[in-house]
Amino acid sequence: MLQENGGLELTDNPSKEEYDAIVIGSGPNGLAAAITLAQAKRSVLLMEAAPDIGGGTRTAELTEPGFLHDICSAVHPLGVTSPFFKNLPLEDFGLEWIYPEASVIHALEPDRAVVLYPDMEKTVAGLGVDGESYRRMLAPFLKKADVLLEQILHPFNPLPKTPFLMARFGLRGMSSTVSMARRWFKEDAAKALLAGMAAHSVLPLEQSFTGAVGLMFGVIGHRVSWPIAKGGSREIAHAMARYLQSLGGEIVVNRRVSALSDLPKARAHLWNLTPSALCKIEGLKLPSRYTKKLKAFRHGPGVYKIDWALSGPIPWQHEDFKKAATVHIGGTIDEVADAERAPWEGKVADKPFILFSQQSLFDSSRAPDGQHTGWGYCHVPANCEENVEESILKQMERFAPGFRDLIIDRHIMNPSAMESHNPNYIGGDITGGVMDMWQLFTRPVNLFSPYSTPLPNNFLCSASTPPGAGVHGMCGYFSAKAALHSILRA
Ligand SMILES: Cc1cc2nc3c(=O)[nH]c(=O)nc-3n(C[C@H](O)[C@H](O)[C@H](O)COP(=O)(O)OP(=O)(O)OC[C@H]3O[C@@H](n4cnc5c(N)ncnc54)[C@H](O)[C@@H]3O)c2cc1C
Repeated sequence: MLQENGGLELTDNPSKEEYDAIVIGSGPNGLAAAITLAQAKRSVLLMEAAPDIGGGTRTAELTEPGFLHDICSAVHPLGVTSPFFKNLPLEDFGLEWIYPEASVIHALEPDRAVVLYPDMEKTVAGLGVDGESYRRMLAPFLKKADVLLEQILHPFNPLPKTPFLMARFGLRGMSSTVSMARRWFKEDAAKALLAGMAAHSVLPLEQSFTGAVGLMFGVIGHRVSWPIAKGGSREIAHAMARYLQSLGGEIVVNRRVSALSDLPKARAHLWNLTPSALCKIEGLKLPSRYTKKLKAFRHGPGVYKIDWALSGPIPWQHEDFKKAATVHIGGTIDEVADAERAPWEGKVADKPFILFSQQSLFDSSRAPDGQHTGWGYCHVPANCEENVEESILKQMERFAPGFRDLIIDRHIMNPSAMESHNPNYIGGDITGGVMDMWQLFTRPVNLFSPYSTPLPNNFLCSASTPPGAGVHGMCGYFSAKAALHSILRA
């Protein structure tokens, strides 16, 4: 079968019997690995289990015809920050970023939105007495934002370009979000803004190092903003795939790999899988000590996600809520912290913190004329089977009364639906494994050579390797570089 999609060719069968490298899994990291290898003139086959490529960057009409929903990732601060993406001609292959006026909104009260604009002055003006503290907190990192962000996405560089700046960032970000907010701010607005950004860590906000996640997303929000992809996140994957094919790379879909015997011959395999999935590949003779470590890799809470087809614009109480694609729906820092602690205690929060996106407000291709989409999820315990729809709707109604009346249709994915959609989301964990301080630096097992395995022709390239979750392709890029420096050197 041959599917054509704007110059993208997806087939079910490889055309050759032998390749230099096979990448298994076509998430952003699998695509990045394949591109890096193809750029180095190695013959590459990318094999994907699903009918469409992209892993966590797929888009589909999940509700009604004409409504395009991002099934997983929606907003791409890391995509536009990624040094790897920056060097790809993705715009020439169909990708268009859309930058709303603001990077992110935090819904503090029904009629009060805290707005992070790329412009520092406008942001500071909205933070009242804490404005100057907020500026001081971020200022040293904004001066050299590009180099800092590049280093954050390259955590094992033994020779960072700006070691003092990195050390300063590490020292400031080492605290928990809660203590950082208490130290820097007096009022609710700035505290809540920091908490909402740090909640992307999927960790309790009392935990050390979550402050760094809030800081990082703040720096990106001011340096580049938090854009969406025109036409849906799948356009990121499709642009990468078109570029890969232009370099001679081949892509097959509908090919779940469960054994080495499922693969054509190759000098190297790069696995865009979780550590536990790698252990299950038949015929892959990983030493038992390594397998034991891979199996000890920890996964975190799951997500409960709803996509809505809406008959009209979201009835926010205040115009400011319409300024960004991303709205953090969560109230005060105490509310956000309670909501983010709950899944770690095995509970569903009464008032979940919702990571919400309103892509159709900025991209008319997402919904029929006058109608809209809504994308929202919250963190729940791993494998949670509880129905969370009502709690999510109550939070939506709190900030946008009348939201329920607009719902034409909705599509729900609980943690097990997430895992069925993508086997990398174990128990609904969307970060490829807990991103706490310990596991961020040792993912999946090895500090110094995280992409290699004891088998010299097998590499891991998923978000379970550094720098971890998000659509940035850096795990795939570094993994391919590891292969090119060893087994694929010549
Ligand atoms: C609800 C949700 C919201 C998110 N929001 C954002 C966001 O807004 N911004 C952001 O940057 N990130 C977001 N993420 C995270 C982001 O999607 C992931 O971190 C990213 O996709 C990880 O990329 P990856 O290439 O490592 O793996 P994945 O994207 O998970 O891709 C793995 C691929 O491997 C395939 N595969 C697995 N097993 C096999 C097999 N045995 N044989 C063949 N193929 C196989 C899968 O089908 C899949 O296509 C979100 C994720 C979810 C689920």
